Amino acid sequence: MTIGVVGAGQLGAMLALAGYPLGIDFLFLDRSAKTPAGRFAPVLTGAFDDQSLLTQLAARCDVISFDWENISVQALRAATRAHRTRIAPPLKALAAAQDRLSEKHTFERLGIATTRFAPVDSLAALERAVARIGLPGVLKTRRLGYDGKGQVVLRRSGDCERAWQQLGAVPLLYEQFIPFDYEVSIIGVRSRRGEIAIYPLNRNYHAEGILRLTLAPWHAPGLRRTAAASLTRVLEAFHYVGVLAIEFFVHRGRLIANEMAPRVHNSGHWTIEGAVTSQFENHVRAVSGLPLGATGARGHAAMINLIGRMPPRRLLLAEPEVHLHDYGKEPRHGRKLGHCTLLAASAERRNSRAKRLMARLYPQLSFKP
Ligand code: AMP
Repeated sequence: MTIGVVGAGQLGAMLALAGYPLGIDFLFLDRSAKTPAGRFAPVLTGAFDDQSLLTQLAARCDVISFDWENISVQALRAATRAHRTRIAPPLKALAAAQDRLSEKHTFERLGIATTRFAPVDSLAALERAVARIGLPGVLKTRRLGYDGKGQVVLRRSGDCERAWQQLGAVPLLYEQFIPFDYEVSIIGVRSRRGEIAIYPLNRNYHAEGILRLTLAPWHAPGLRRTAAASLTRVLEAFHYVGVLAIEFFVHRGRLIANEMAPRVHNSGHWTIEGAVTSQFENHVRAVSGLPLGATGARGHAAMINLIGRMPPRRLLLAEPEVHLHDYGKEPRHGRKLGHCTLLAASAERRNSRAKRLMARLYPQLSFKP
């Protein structure tokens, strides 16, 4: 069994590392072979929508998946048709998650609370959206946004023109700014046979639009139930196969869906050491038609992203029960270079150790667990 993966970043690398013990091989497609997954598996190099490379990938693999959602649905569909190669997760779910407008419509259709929003394709439409939805608000590109890229916060009506100048070259979406108390995410997996397994709730801390820290399990049983019900509705609506994540704002005790990711997710990296079966192994199991593994936590985990520059390995590995994942990427400002996961026997101990480690790694950020 060979899984073809479009995108050979760290998510792809961790899929390969989870799949090899199960006897599964991998073939990647990416713009460069000098990528995290390229350290472990062969990479077809070229554009993500290169029809001949996608066709090769489809011919050589039993199933095609992706570790990055900014890829062409049409090119992937055309390439897999000739060989009838399976694609998982389904392209309909990928298409819905690629466009913030269809993502919002999906949430609305399935009765999942989300921010108020309006599509924007002109300065006049932005002014109308601001008048209807109010301020503050966030103007976002409908496509190709990630880690807070392609977003501008509007605080006064005078901000419209500047925001339009900054982003207006592409289709946009304006949404209400949520003064949230905190952010959480839920990750789950659906198998080909329709089994569903859902991980504990994650509490996420972002800075400059990038995830810095996840604490899991986050003990909030009511929120976990609602989040799991929302995730289940999306998994079933798409006859989904593989791992799916939804990110939420928690505002006045209620969940408001921000976005979904049709793939393994950064807030689920803790599952490698902190859960019975990792999100990566469960994705591999699901797309290969295998039974799913249990999603329960083993203890209490904190996952810290290593961003911009790698700290000395010694510093992290001298800590008890800290596991390091170095993606082997060139350092660059704001780039995710690795992560580490800390395990503890209680939530209190995890929180205090995570706080200390965060203070050493990110002295400029304030973090209150
Ligand atoms: P996104 O790329 O949409 O996940 O946004 C990245 C981060 O920006 C989120 O995790 C939030 O911390 C923040 N953010 C995005 N949209 C909003 C919003 N409507 N209200 C408040 N904060 C937001």
